[in-house]
Amino acid sequence: MTALAVPLIQLDSPLAQQVSAARAAGADLIELRVDLLGDSAAIAELLEREQESRGDAPYLLTIRSAAEGGGWDGGDDERVALYERLGLLQPGYLDVEWATWQRSANLRQKIGLVAETGAEPGTRAKNRLILSWHELRETPADLAARLDPFDAPASAIRKAVFTTRDAFDGWRIADELRRRGAGAPWILLGMGEGGLLTRVLAKKFGGFLTFAALDEDSLAAPGQPTIATLRELYRWDALGPATGVYGVVGWPVAHSQSPRLHNAAMARAGIDGVYLPMPILPERERFVAFMDFLAARPELGVRGLSVTIPHKEHALQWLRERGGAISDIALRCGAVNTLQCDRGRWSGDNTDAAGALRALQGLTPGRAHVLGAGGAARAVIAALQTAGWQVRIYGRDARRTAEVARELGCEWRIWEERARTRCDLLANCTQVGMSPNEDESPYPAAALRKEMTVFDTVYQPEQTRLLRAAADCGAAVRSGLTMFRAQAALQFECWHGRAMTNEA
Ligand code: NAP
Repeated sequence: MTALAVPLIQLDSPLAQQVSAARAAGADLIELRVDLLGDSAAIAELLEREQESRGDAPYLLTIRSAAEGGGWDGGDDERVALYERLGLLQPGYLDVEWATWQRSANLRQKIGLVAETGAEPGTRAKNRLILSWHELRETPADLAARLDPFDAPASAIRKAVFTTRDAFDGWRIADELRRRGAGAPWILLGMGEGGLLTRVLAKKFGGFLTFAALDEDSLAAPGQPTIATLRELYRWDALGPATGVYGVVGWPVAHSQSPRLHNAAMARAGIDGVYLPMPILPERERFVAFMDFLAARPELGVRGLSVTIPHKEHALQWLRERGGAISDIALRCGAVNTLQCDRGRWSGDNTDAAGALRALQGLTPGRAHVLGAGGAARAVIAALQTAGWQVRIYGRDARRTAEVARELGCEWRIWEERARTRCDLLANCTQVGMSPNEDESPYPAAALRKEMTVFDTVYQPEQTRLLRAAADCGAAVRSGLTMFRAQAALQFECWHGRAMTNEA
């Protein structure tokens, strides 16, 4: 069973109090970051006091060097002496850097006095050894070749942590854990936003432990979730080897509401799945390499992906090139926002159009003006045409706008003319007004009229400046949140074959 380890890194409140809070939050193991806590006397006192009553959540002692991202800038002799002194108090586990371990036989012998190294049969119980490597610059391209020579004693747990650029790096790390899962115990994790999936999926792929912070102020590594986020949002307690993996692929995705929506809905429906943010660098080549990697490894358990800016068109093209099935509406929109993998076969759909249709339900078709000529505009135009609207689009890039108009069979005008003629429905399909640029609006307030309906696809914030101005002049408004929820519900149906139920 993968342990949930909570690192303690600061002494702003008494150590014993932090330990109780970590155990109450569900920690299986408590990491004492001696290099950051600084006060070895307080640590010794804690370990001594608890020696009899330890049991449920043992300690992991770590004295991380500055070279590997920690706070220890002293010498090896002093560090080993500290391991010896604190190790005698039987914390449970000792984290020693692989580089340090390799440096001298004398040092290995000293560590062997307090940690189980397999070198000689110990007569009294010893701490377990974790040998660790922290690559702060990158996730190496030849990951397997870099991990293979990790010649630790058989009894030791091997740990390697890499800095990720995006979730493709994260998946390469997770795949190494999966491949090594059945052998010696491993901890393989990624730092940064792209590494979040390695921290959550450590449980699916049989990692020895994962780390989670006690709270936002105690993050010991970039991208580390809090224990509450891991358990409540990412469903830690329910994860297992058969858990299906879903996620949102885009750049950026940090502020996406989809993980919250999908994880909660899967939990309500009793579905064994987890939904994760998967930031993938914006270049098409990166997306293609990432998808090819997943497609070649169905055993990773990825069943469905939401696709967002800037990869919706890349997803369509990838499916075309790899012979995957594409729905008619996705072809018409020129974009795929939903990828599904069913027994190794990938297919693509677009639920934005149906989501927009739902957001515009009940309106009498008339003249609609659409602002923008990107993926959301294509989906909204397709939805409006299905419902019988007469559509005209306004875009700032005349060539792109004309092309969309030609492909979808609607009128177009240049951006500067957007407020010149009247319409029954105005639909903003640009990102103007989206957080953090909440003060912006794509349309002059003076041109709004109370007979209009104004629809904004932007849903962060829900009440955009455009919608507020429309409401102020008495116009009817429709928010992008309805469309967002509807497209998410359709993705849920596509992946799980059942309806997404609403929160109670
Ligand atoms: P996209 O493919 O990048 O297209 C954005 C469009 O907006 C482009 O035509 C772009 O023009 C235009 N644009 C951007 N900034 C502009 C500005 N300052 N002035 C005039 N035009 C501007 O993006 P998308 O996927 O269509 O997404 C657009 C918006 O829709 C986003 O805010 C997104 O959150 C929202 N959306 C909402 C939902 C939902 O469920 N509610 C679903 C999908 C998308 P250029 O071509 O000249 O750059």
